[in-house]
Amino acid sequence: MAPDFQQTSIWQKEANELCKPIRWLPFWRPRVILKRGRFSPWFWPVLWFTKSGAFNLFFLLIVSEDLLHCSPERRRAILAHECGHLTHFHALVWIAAATLVLRNDFIRAGLSWVGAHLGPWPALVAFMAFLALSLTGFRALLYWFEHQADDYAVARVGALGVVDTLEWLNGKMFGTDGSPWVNARIRRLRDLHRLPA
Ligand SMILES: [Zn+2]
Repeated sequence: MAPDFQQTSIWQKEANELCKPIRWLPFWRPRVILKRGRFSPWFWPVLWFTKSGAFNLFFLLIVSEDLLHCSPERRRAILAHECGHLTHFHALVWIAAATLVLRNDFIRAGLSWVGAHLGPWPALVAFMAFLALSLTGFRALLYWFEHQADDYAVARVGALGVVDTLEWLNGKMFGTDGSPWVNARIRRLRDLHRLPA
């Protein structure tokens, strides 16, 4: 088995090949970072809670060490999926959407108006409605982005490779039943590309 630094440079080299450059933004290229154990780069504390997986932030592709030595087919599928996030600027849209919801003066003013004029119970109901609406919106965005990245990966490495890798990761991260959310992504790809179940 190649040492980790050599393996990371293979990931980097392959990411460079798989990621189609954006013509008007040529410097927006993948940069592969190895994530050891629960270590998380300082700029992304949410990764302290996750051990295994591949993640993206702007142009950074963060790969956990347990995925580092997977087969070349799976490596390419993981990289292609993350490159899909990168080329579609998903991290930027996430940050914009979160800012819009969490730091919005109109929403705050509206909620406090309800509290001031209609009383605490309508304010609570309004807040719960706001929360439910935001979560639904975030969920829709998450589905949309994952499907977009899956489709990008299919175009780069083929549907069979992406489905195999999703199934492998699903079992590795969530056990034999997998996660309903990843199962749905696998089903979608099977239906779309007419793969046998
Ligand atoms: Zn993804």
